[in-house]
Amino acid sequence: IFSSTAATFGEPQYTPIDEHHPQQPINPYGRTKLMVEQALADYERAYGFKSVCLRYFNPIGAHPSGSIGELPRGIPNNLAPYLTQAAAGLREALTVFGDDYPTPDGTAVRDYLHVMDLAEAHVAALRFLDKATDRQAFEVFNLGTGRAVSVKELLQAFERVNGIAVPHRIGARRQGDVTELWADPTQAEQRLGWKAKHSLDDMLRDAWNWQLRLAEE
Ligand code: UDP
Repeated sequence: IFSSTAATFGEPQYTPIDEHHPQQPINPYGRTKLMVEQALADYERAYGFKSVCLRYFNPIGAHPSGSIGELPRGIPNNLAPYLTQAAAGLREALTVFGDDYPTPDGTAVRDYLHVMDLAEAHVAALRFLDKATDRQAFEVFNLGTGRAVSVKELLQAFERVNGIAVPHRIGARRQGDVTELWADPTQAEQRLGWKAKHSLDDMLRDAWNWQLRLAEE
């Protein structure tokens, strides 16, 4: 099972993104992930080696117990850890990267999914591989909720769910960011028997719970 990424698609040509969407990554992260996808496809053709590539969209949140979560080294690059650190007062303010995108509220749109759902997808993929026929020896699945959420929407949901204000300011767009990217998870549902169960509120509650637990350490 290979942890691939929505970044292998690059600039979306249509949304939601299904497995057949062209892959033209625009950064080294996406390019290297695509190289591994291609190597696995070759490996299957050459040696019958079975694999599943899971293309993660935007996993966030933490284990509901607060005992497992993410702690990026230094200044976080990703939205969720930056946001929880700003809410905790560890960062001065969250910068919203651009509010002039052609989206309903001007901020960029992504497909956030709970890490627990993502973990379950791996179990589903293992089961799939166990039963895979030779024709199914190399498979790719897009993993998301299929729900498009803007940066502002996520920020407001975080404040509402956790009852805490997050200091933030509007900044410039970040280079390399696409306007909108969200998944069509139909294949994962139909073929892996997997579907995201957690809501955005669950993700943001668990992310904050994890940040609070970190502060206790
Ligand atoms: N973002 C933001 N401020 C931050 C970090 C991210 O506004 O400090 C935005 C970013 O522009 C993107 C979304 O949040 O629209 C998700 O970014 P992230 O880096 O978490 O994931 P990506 O989609 O880039 O893989």
